[in-house]
Formats: sequence, structure tokens, C-alpha cells
Amino acid sequence: MKKKFSAETIEAAHKATIFHEMDILASSVCTCFYCGYQFDPYQEKELEWWDEESPKGKTLVCPMCLIDCVIGDASGFPVTDHDFIMECTEAWFGGISRISDGKPIERANRPTIEVE
Ligand SMILES: [Zn+2]
Repeated sequence: MKKKFSAETIEAAHKATIFHEMDILASSVCTCFYCGYQFDPYQEKELEWWDEESPKGKTLVCPMCLIDCVIGDASGFPVTDHDFIMECTEAWFGGISRISDGKPIERANRPTIEVE
């Protein structure tokens, strides 16, 4: 497959998946590069953040698969470009992702905490 994006671009995009609170909040569309879910961060009922204490900014996890590989369009990367998504998921997950596997987007079961 002919690559449309350079290795440097793919690498830089990977860095945009963490400590990206500002980018995410400035975005109107975000894409998960593991399961392919695209969403408007302001339309989601609940956003889950990791790295809450990091001075670099919090990291958003995907509302569907709970993996931290979400990028917002404010990062400047073409987050809705199918080729871009494919090249990133292949590079980051070595061809093992829901996108590579052609699996549908599905909400992951989170462990339930029983409160008595
Ligand atoms: Zn996902």
C-alpha cells in the first residue's frame, strides 16, 4: 500500500493522543484511532479523562472502547481522512485494532462497581 503520510506525521499524530485536553476542547470532531469512533466532544454525555494531575494536560479516552488514542481536529491532523486513520492505526497497533480487523464500533463493557 502506498503511504500518503510520512512516518514523522504519523509519529507526531501519536503524540497528539495524550495530554491533549486543550486540543480536544477546541475540536468539533474527534476520532478514536483504535475503534474508529468519531464524535463531537460536546455531544458526549460523559467524557473520561486520564492523567488528571498532569501539568501537560489531561488525556481523553475513547467513550466507546476506553483506549487513549483519540485525536481532535483542532490538533491540525486530518482526523476524518480515512487513509490517515488507516495509516495511524496500522502504525500504532501493528495491524491489530478494531479498525484493522474491520470490527464495528462497540461500547466496551467497563467493570461495574457494585455499591451496596
Ligand atoms: Zn475507540
